[in-house]
Amino acid sequence: MIFDPQALLLIKFICLLTSTAAVAWGLIAQPLKIATQASMRFSLANLFVLLGIILNSQRTEASSYFFWFCSDMAILFGFILARWGTKALFRLKPSVKSDLILLALTAGVMLLVPPNFSSERILAIVFSACAALIFAMLTRDNYLAIKRDTGNRVAIAMVMPLVAMVGIFIIRIFIALLSPEESPMFIAMHTQEAIPVLWFYVFLALLINIVMIGNAMTRLVSKIRMLAERDQLTGLWNRRAMHKFLNNIHQRWLRDKVPYSMILLDLDHFKDINDQYGHDAGDLALLTAARLFGSVLRENDALCRHGGEEFLVILPATDAPAARVVAEKLHQVLKDNSFIWQGVTIKIHASLGYATIYQGCQPDKLLIQADQAMYRAKSEGRDRICQAC
Ligand code: GH3
Ligand code: MG
Ligand code: MG
Repeated sequence: MIFDPQALLLIKFICLLTSTAAVAWGLIAQPLKIATQASMRFSLANLFVLLGIILNSQRTEASSYFFWFCSDMAILFGFILARWGTKALFRLKPSVKSDLILLALTAGVMLLVPPNFSSERILAIVFSACAALIFAMLTRDNYLAIKRDTGNRVAIAMVMPLVAMVGIFIIRIFIALLSPEESPMFIAMHTQEAIPVLWFYVFLALLINIVMIGNAMTRLVSKIRMLAERDQLTGLWNRRAMHKFLNNIHQRWLRDKVPYSMILLDLDHFKDINDQYGHDAGDLALLTAARLFGSVLRENDALCRHGGEEFLVILPATDAPAARVVAEKLHQVLKDNSFIWQGVTIKIHASLGYATIYQGCQPDKLLIQADQAMYRAKSEGRDRICQAC
């Protein structure tokens, strides 16, 4: 096969890019041990794409399963490995079985035609259909995971290169189907016509690796944020995160005059659980209480572990009567439930104080008032709700 010199240079450049990326991901995986499993898969993904491109560039007029079938399979498996890397990174449900079935089906169809230039268009269509599907699924995985960690807008921006990849494979199918005279541009890699598309591959190889790096960073940042803002035992917001949330909600109150409320809960005679059944039973009591409180709150309420056995709930857009209703729900859910520790059923009780924002009050002062209301509930006999005066 005769190579156009510029096409050859670009193919070499793509090889250089994928091999460098493979080494970089390998280093991230091993000595650095950052997201080891995912980084290793991203490294292998680049290696398989590299292998496929090298095999592809060796095609001649002669039939060869090695340079046709194996080349296509290596590239497609590289794409699948990129998907598995994303799955490992974001701890998503594995898709090994369905991905391998897709690859096996593609292989089955490819093996029906001879591996040479006479089947070039059919092979290109089958390859592109499988690649478009893998990238569509990769796009979906990335979008949902990034949206969960950082929100919709960032997620859309991050998956754009992947959407472009789906697009180019679909265009490739249509061109191969409808316009055979344009095929050399999209199908073969060694011709002068292929140069714009080769440039696009360079761009995408770069961009996809950047997306993978972006994903790894997103994951790391959300892990760091989780460590900084969440309570280790219960996974609830900690005090620091709660202060941030409270300040934001207070700004909204100053701006729009939409009232908010807070409820402070302290578990009653919690020390007795620790003393009687041990510290692990106490931990389970805290976990149970956190789960039960979470089950009756709305999604935009903030539940935080305020101290040892003290919880704070911040209720946006909630006036005093509505806060009372929530406090009763929290109180009731403890009454209706219990937990079992080494065969013994243990009940948890709590005293609750709630307060609602009013003109001239600052968040710190409101918190003190909720605390005073909670202590009033304690002094009036515990296991009850009091409103701040
Ligand atoms: P009251 O009804 O007056 O609130 O009594 P109490 O026993 O609940 O309150 P006290 O302040 O006397 O005791 C709180 C206990 O909570 C003491 C502390 O050891 C325990 N505690 C704090 N954090 C944890 C934790 O993370 N796990 C466990 N198991 N216990 C904790
Ligand atoms: Mg306490
Ligand atoms: Mg207590």
